[in-house]
Amino acid sequence: MNFDIAIIGGGPGGYNAAEKAAKLGMQVVLFEKEDLGGTCLNRGCMPTKALIHSAEAYESMLHAESLGIKTGEVTYDFAAMHARKAQVVEELRKGVEKLMKAGKIQVVYGQAQIAGPGVVTCGGETYEVKDIIIATGSKVAYPPIPGIREEGVYNSRDILEGEGKMFRSLIIIGGGVVGVECASIYRALGCEVTVLEAADHILPVMDKEIAQRLTMMLKKRGCKVEAKAMVQKIEGTPGSMTVTYLDKKGKETVVTAEGVLAAAGRCANVDGLFAEGVEIEMFKNAIVGDEVGRTSIPHIYVIGDAKAKNIQLAHVAEAQGANAVAVIAGKEPPIDMSVVPSCVYTNPEIAAVGVTEDQAKAMGIMPKAVKFLTGANGKCLIENTDSGYVKLVTDSANGRILGAQLVCPRATDMIGELALAVQKGITAEGLHAVIHPHPTFTEMISGAAALAEG
Ligand code: FAD
Repeated sequence: MNFDIAIIGGGPGGYNAAEKAAKLGMQVVLFEKEDLGGTCLNRGCMPTKALIHSAEAYESMLHAESLGIKTGEVTYDFAAMHARKAQVVEELRKGVEKLMKAGKIQVVYGQAQIAGPGVVTCGGETYEVKDIIIATGSKVAYPPIPGIREEGVYNSRDILEGEGKMFRSLIIIGGGVVGVECASIYRALGCEVTVLEAADHILPVMDKEIAQRLTMMLKKRGCKVEAKAMVQKIEGTPGSMTVTYLDKKGKETVVTAEGVLAAAGRCANVDGLFAEGVEIEMFKNAIVGDEVGRTSIPHIYVIGDAKAKNIQLAHVAEAQGANAVAVIAGKEPPIDMSVVPSCVYTNPEIAAVGVTEDQAKAMGIMPKAVKFLTGANGKCLIENTDSGYVKLVTDSANGRILGAQLVCPRATDMIGELALAVQKGITAEGLHAVIHPHPTFTEMISGAAALAEG
C-alpha cells in the first residue's frame, strides 16, 4: 500500500500531524497500537484534569459554609468520578476519530514497525511511503529501586484508568508534575499523602520559589513533602506498604501507607519500533532529532515524547508535528518553539514561561523581577484563594518581558497572554497599556506590568 506519509502513534503529536498533512493534500496513514489520543487524552492530561475538577469541587463543598451555603453531609463516590472522567475521555476520543475521518486519514490499529526508510509494517501488511513521522510517545520510567515493580506499587496509568484506586494513605515517589497533581487529587479526597522527591525541591525543573510555595501549600493541606529523599527500597503487600528512604540528613526513615505511586518520570516508547538492521541515532534510548524533527535517517522524523531531550508536554508534541509536516511539504515551520509555557494543575495552579530571574542572570542579562501578590487582587479575595503571586522578569535595559512565573487561580489560562508577550518581545509598558477587565484574575498581569514599569 502506498501513502505520502506514515505517522506512527496517534497521540497529540501524531493525530495533529496527520490532520495537518491531510490538509496539505497528503495521503496519510496513521498507526496506533492502542487508542487514538495517546497518553494525553486517555491516561494523562485529560483524565487527571477531569479528576482534579471533581476533587476540587468536593473540597470546595466541604468549605461551602464560608460562602454562606448550607449543605448536608458532603461525600463522594470515587467510581462515579472515574465514570465521569471516562465519559469526558470517550467524547474527546470520538472527536479525534471524527477528525481523522474528515481528513480521509487511513487509521490502522496495530503495532507498527519501521522496516527501513519509506517502509512500515503493521499486522502483516507493508506500507510504502515517502516520509515517516515517529510519534510513539513515552511510557512510565522506573528508577532502580528494589521492590518498585512489585504488587502494591502503582503507576499513573494504573490509577487513571478504569475505576481508579482509592487509598486511605499513599506514598508518591517523585515530586514532578504527575506526582504533585496526583498528590492534589488524593489529598483533596481525604487520603494521607506523602511525597518523596530525590532532588532538592519538588517540581525540579521549575523555579525554586514556585516549588517552595507549592511545598508550603501542600503541607498546609496536610500532605507530607520530603525533598532530598533517596528511596532505598519498597516492601509489603497491597494495602500495607513500606518505603525506606534516606532523608536530607542521610538518616534512614521508614514510611508506611496502603499504596505506593511510582511517578519518577517517563522515557521514550521505542519498543519494537525498528526492524533489525535499522540503525538510527539514539540518546538515552530516545530518538535524536533536530529542531524540526529530522533524524539521522533521511525522510524519518521524530516528534513529541519519543524525541531525545524533549520537553514532555502535549502542546510541544503538537507544535513539533505541525513543524515537521510543514518541512516535509517544503514550507517554513510555522511554530516558534523557543517559548514554551508549562503548567501544573494543582490548587492553586502554577504556570511558567520564558526565563526565571536566575536564568536571565546566567544569560548575562540584568533582570528586573517584580511580584504582584494575590492578596492585592479583588477576584482572589472574593474566591478565598491561597497566597500566591504573578511574577514578571523583565530586561532592565529595555523593559522587555523575558519570563513569568505564576502561582494563582487560573494561572494555566493566564499564561497564554504572557507567552505572547515573551514571544513578541512586548515591554512591561506595552503590557500595562492594555486594558484588563475588572474584576478578573488577569488584572494581576497588568498590576505586575505596572510594577515592572516602575
Ligand atoms: P503519546 O501521547 O504518548 O502518544 C503516543 C501514541 O503512540 C500512543 O497512543 C501509543 O499507543 C502509540 N504507539 C507507540 N508505539 C507505537 C507503535 N510502534 N505502533 C503504533 N502505535 C504506537 N502534558 C501536557 O501538556 N499537559 C498536561 O496536563 C499533562 N498531564 C499529564 C498527566 C499525566 C499523568 C501524564 C502521564 C502525562 C501528562 N502530560 C501532560 C504529558 C503528555 O501526555 C505527553 O507529553 C503527550 O501525550 C506526548 O504526546 P505524544 O504524541 O508524543 O505521545
